[in-house]
Amino acid sequence: MNKSHQPIRQFASDNYSGICPEAWDYLLEANSGDAPAYGNDQWTQRTADRFRELFETDCEVFFVFNGTAANSLSLAALCQSYHSVICHETAHIETDECGGPEFASNGSKLLLAKGEQGKLDPPEVERLITRRSDIHYPKPKVISITQATELGTVYTLNDLRGLRKLAKQYGLKMHMDGARFANAVATLDQTPAQMTWQAGIDVLCLGGTKNGMAIGEAILFFDQELAADFAWRCKQAGQLASKMRFIAAPWLGLLETGAWLRNARHANDMAAYLEQRLQEVAGLQPMFPRQANSVFLELPPPVIQALQAKGWQFYTFIGVGGVRLMCSWNTPQEAVDQLISDLQRALTRTQAAGQD
Ligand SMILES: *Cc1c(COP(=O)(O)O)cnc(C)c1O
Repeated sequence: MNKSHQPIRQFASDNYSGICPEAWDYLLEANSGDAPAYGNDQWTQRTADRFRELFETDCEVFFVFNGTAANSLSLAALCQSYHSVICHETAHIETDECGGPEFASNGSKLLLAKGEQGKLDPPEVERLITRRSDIHYPKPKVISITQATELGTVYTLNDLRGLRKLAKQYGLKMHMDGARFANAVATLDQTPAQMTWQAGIDVLCLGGTKNGMAIGEAILFFDQELAADFAWRCKQAGQLASKMRFIAAPWLGLLETGAWLRNARHANDMAAYLEQRLQEVAGLQPMFPRQANSVFLELPPPVIQALQAKGWQFYTFIGVGGVRLMCSWNTPQEAVDQLISDLQRALTRTQAAGQD
């Protein structure tokens, strides 16, 4: 095997993973013969219908290439340029989209809220909404919620209720960044409908990439009026796939076979196992409650370096610092065991060095 094809050792991200078999099978199947372009094909139609079935409502469905586009374009559809979007200070739309939402909306401003464990805190959100009402300040229009959050936690239905109350009271729309929505569903054991439109969400950006696809996120407008002209917005932004069936078909593979939830459950289970082993073997507690597929840890720099020297890849810059260990649909249990064993050795060595 070519050296560049050697497997890497990683808990870096769920987008390091490959394509899951179910998505791959449907992709192959969609490749027999020709089909109409730009979403006018049977695969796209079937997949949109399947989303409406899963979410138990007649929503408008769009497909784009990635999550940054999904968030940026959907927020632009909810805002005028003089509006603002309230989000958590660690939100992907703030920290990882290079100003995409502001660019797509011609200047809508993000207002950053603090909140424990990566979640928006209703009193803090209300403070941002009511802080100013004069004409010199961008008018709050949207509350954006990341589910599961950037810190691996999950909003409960009760959490969402508090935010919905504010949205209703002040006439704001609710946007959900669901890059890891499936992981949140797996955790909460609520239906997708209960967790979105029944909880007041107007638009959901639903992640396929981290759930086992090669490419392609879905945007679901539960408030159909907000989807008016959205197809033109996608096209102008270069986000209308001409061979749309190759995004739609793998999605159908995830939905029809149940792989979307199975994949998320596996990722969550591996993170739970990792958390348990960290506690048992090394006495290490996570920085935040582990509620989805990631575990955040504080580790001494020499231990981080020792793990990296062993070839382990992970991020140390997400959220609020610390090491983020992210599991995906294909994380093997042996990888967790190997990481734990390397970590234990590194910790022992660092502690011994500290005692000299
Ligand atoms: C990965 C991710 C996205 C999408 O990122 P892209 O790289 O643009 O596909 C959006 N939101 C969150 C919270 C993410 O983790």
